[in-house]
Amino acid sequence: MGFITTVSRSGREVFACEIGKDGCARTGCTKHRCPYGWCQRYYVCKACWAKPDVKALFTKRGGKHETCRVNSDAYRKRDIEADALRESGHLLRVAALNKDKKGVHVIFRGKDGVEAGRYMPKSVYDGIPIGTNATIEDYEKIAGCVLSTAPTSFY
Ligand SMILES: [Zn+2]
Ligand SMILES: [Zn+2]
Repeated sequence: MGFITTVSRSGREVFACEIGKDGCARTGCTKHRCPYGWCQRYYVCKACWAKPDVKALFTKRGGKHETCRVNSDAYRKRDIEADALRESGHLLRVAALNKDKKGVHVIFRGKDGVEAGRYMPKSVYDGIPIGTNATIEDYEKIAGCVLSTAPTSFY
């Protein structure tokens, strides 16, 4: 959700109310937080906020912040899954650097900050999308072989 700004009478750029197709454009807005703590804060003027249907847009399921709810749920789920994986001794992908000839150098981190590095072909690396928990075992399954060891830092 982008901010709508306007120029106030004193010539300063200020936040305008974002209700309506192009924003109702009133200034003197109140700052509100995303109900799911996901997106940036947003600005709605007092007159709009006083309308129950407007307020519902922001606070109800399926409203303006529905994608925030979906994203924050997915994020929380991924976090819980990551904790469980680390607890059970797996190391998770934390960083990667494409080194062309050697393939992608990937660094993994597990419980108590234990680290490991592996080299893998780009096609193997691309097999697990960014933002997904990825373990060394997941990549070895994709590669169909044991991956060669790499340093735990890029340089
Ligand atoms: Zn939001
Ligand atoms: Zn308004």
